[in-house]
Amino acid sequence: MTDVKSTDIQVSTFENAMRQFDQAASLLNLNPGLLNIIKRPRRSIILELPMVMDDGTYRLFTGYRVQHSIARGPGKGGIRYHPGVTLDEVQALAAWMTFKCAVVGIPFGGAKGGIVCDPRTMSRAELERLTRRYTAELMDVIGPDQDVPAPDVNTDQQIMAWVMDTYSMHRRRTETAVVTGKPVAMGGSLGRREATGRGVQLCVRAMVRHLGLSLNGLRIVVQGFGNVGSVAAELLARDGCKIIAVCDVYGAIMNRSGLDIPALLKHCATTGSVKGFAGAEPLDLGAVLTTDCDVLIPAALENVITRENADAIKARVVAEGANGPTTPEADLILAGKGTHVIPDILCNAGGVTVSYFEWVQDRIGYFWEEAEVNKRLELIMNRSFGEVLSMATAHNTTLRVAAFMLAIQRVAEVIQLRGLYA
Ligand code: NAD
Repeated sequence: MTDVKSTDIQVSTFENAMRQFDQAASLLNLNPGLLNIIKRPRRSIILELPMVMDDGTYRLFTGYRVQHSIARGPGKGGIRYHPGVTLDEVQALAAWMTFKCAVVGIPFGGAKGGIVCDPRTMSRAELERLTRRYTAELMDVIGPDQDVPAPDVNTDQQIMAWVMDTYSMHRRRTETAVVTGKPVAMGGSLGRREATGRGVQLCVRAMVRHLGLSLNGLRIVVQGFGNVGSVAAELLARDGCKIIAVCDVYGAIMNRSGLDIPALLKHCATTGSVKGFAGAEPLDLGAVLTTDCDVLIPAALENVITRENADAIKARVVAEGANGPTTPEADLILAGKGTHVIPDILCNAGGVTVSYFEWVQDRIGYFWEEAEVNKRLELIMNRSFGEVLSMATAHNTTLRVAAFMLAIQRVAEVIQLRGLYA
């Protein structure tokens, strides 16, 4: 399988996340021992999941759940199904969740899960058995007050429904708040499916306002056309932006006059890929990130903007829909060129924000209209963008450093208030 991560195989994603942390922490006057407590994952679980495949053969799949922090509330973070999942990657993703929840001020810690598997080669029945086994193995560590999973790469509403059902069967009661990103029919929130892409849209709008640009005709390139990328593209196209190139794992397409996104979404629903879309020309997959545009939205996997290609990136704004798409070396290059990077822990926080709304609605048993969800999301994203921008201005740093500074301060404050139990 073509894997975006293969371009930077030596990189430890967790080390990258910690380098981001260290850079921000060095600007804060906090106790080094406390900083070390904030950095390290609280708990890392490795599972070997036995499975009978459809053809009767036995297989073992490796799964992970990492709870990076539970200082500000229960762990929160998605579950990823991908052949390239590693403990290092899950630890990094869990750490970013801690700081993301703190940046947007929602009462969760950070966690993440993953299973090393290739869902494209598995049947729906096999995916269901794997999901249920994974959930059953985690019964003692997940729960509405402990750790609340959600979708991530290659996991969707159906998989969340199986997590909820398995957990509920073991607990002998329906427990909707154990997981977010569920179907609306069973305790999901209206607007959750679109929330991460909507958050990206709101951040791009805020950046455009800040830079005095116009959304009308703004040229946008999107890497990854899944949950995050496709929704961001659809909403920004509605704002008048021109989505000039998009790609998925199978291929890339381009139309300099702007792709017809509703038609492209229909094409994807029938063929499973952006490839072969009639209203566009094919583009080399490797050329997507460096295509001339105003805003680049990486929305696939981590470590794709590296020291090798950062200098060739032409976008004035990089809006990180994906988690960890930019390596620390690439960050320096982009900052040196004056590229405005809206960091992942702010830019893609719309998903976890509406996950929080879903958890709240499940717990009170009263569900909001979609307009209410979107209004509250907009308030939180705009407030958070403003707070990160003010921090960056006050300390003359990048938005990423500022977002980490804000998040570290908030986690540190709670740890100090709670005290260390011994
Ligand atoms: P998804 O599985 O729905 O979509 C991923 C997309 O990336 C697919 O179109 C896939 O084909 C494409 N892709 C994978 N490898 C690629 C490659 N080598 N080249 C080009 N495209 C490639 O996943 P998603 O939920 O949209 O998540 C995407 C990113 O956003 C991840 O980094 C995830 O952690 C992050 N994220 C997701 C959410 C959420 O709510 N789903 C929230 C926050 C962050």
